[in-house]
Amino acid sequence: MLMAFYCKDCSYHGKISGQRGECPACGSYNIVQKLKPVEKKSKRGKWRLALLLLLWTYLIMHILWKLNE
Ligand SMILES: [Zn+2]
Repeated sequence: MLMAFYCKDCSYHGKISGQRGECPACGSYNIVQKLKPVEKKSKRGKWRLALLLLLWTYLIMHILWKLNE
């Protein structure tokens, strides 16, 4: 679990906030601190890996198809 800040005004997302707890991007105090689940990140990583694998499979299939022509 990671602590993260989220600004409701400018939708800033980050690990740091201003010195008085304000948004470092727009200076608003409409900022909330929330726990960032690490699971989401790994899920995104898995998706990226699957997409990469699909792309590679497509590329290899394409090359093999071209060679058979
Ligand atoms: Zn902001």
